[in-house]
Amino acid sequence: MNDLTGRCALVTGGSRGIGRAIALALAATGADIAVNYRERRDKAEAVASEIKELGRHAVALSADVALAAEVKRLVADAESALGPVGILVNNAGIARPVTLDTLDTPIWDETIALNLTSAFLVTQAVLPGMRTRRWGRIVNISSTAAQIGGIIGPHYAASKAGMIGMTHGYAKLLAGEGITANVVAPALIDTDMLRGNDRAQPSLVPLGRFGSVEEVAEVVVMLARNGYITGQTINVNGGLYMS
Ligand code: NAP
Repeated sequence: MNDLTGRCALVTGGSRGIGRAIALALAATGADIAVNYRERRDKAEAVASEIKELGRHAVALSADVALAAEVKRLVADAESALGPVGILVNNAGIARPVTLDTLDTPIWDETIALNLTSAFLVTQAVLPGMRTRRWGRIVNISSTAAQIGGIIGPHYAASKAGMIGMTHGYAKLLAGEGITANVVAPALIDTDMLRGNDRAQPSLVPLGRFGSVEEVAEVVVMLARNGYITGQTINVNGGLYMS
């Protein structure tokens, strides 16, 4: 298994939580990192500084990844700062817990745009370069909600299930070109997203605790390093869903 020295990784939503841990773990394995964020510039700059302290190159780049024009600029800026993106982690996401009575079309549309369309947009933007170089790793951060419904609602479960189908589509089409595409499906990981949702309780998890961001990040690193796993969903969920 190779280390990732000389590879450039783009991590969407890398300023906090799972994305931050993924950015740091990929950097520890040798990659240079473009840390995308939407609002919290200070946090993204802090992650980039930590990465530079590891001896890697890093840049913090704001972009709303649900918007095609911002994605285009994001990828162009990442590549001009760090070189061609070889590793893409589609991690940015939102979870709006609602009741069935309050779930409406704007919440549905926002969730699909931010959790699913965003991954499509960023993947499409980096793919031409990966295909030219015949090397790429795409890792999409889905959720156990795709498999068992989860604690947010149908809008969130649908967005995360869509990521799995999308990943299968890319994995199949790209398998002959040195590009893998996989899913990591976490559940109940201790982040701001979880802490904002009082439906999340450790007692829901067979292992009896929330997961750590590092436990998700190490699986992403494994998928970035491994060239023979594609089209798979790796579950990091404390036993909540067993495949
Ligand atoms: P989090 O703590 O809420 O962090 C979300 C990250 O996404 C932040 O970096 C945020 O940037 C960024 N972001 C949000 N909207 C964005 C947009 N439109 N464009 C670009 N960046 C955007 O979330 P998390 O818990 O780490 O979750 C990360 C991913 O894992 C999400 O896709 C989530 O659905 C998934 N997941 C989480 C859990 C869990 O238990 N935590 C379980 C399953 C799946 P700012 O800092 O600038 O706001």
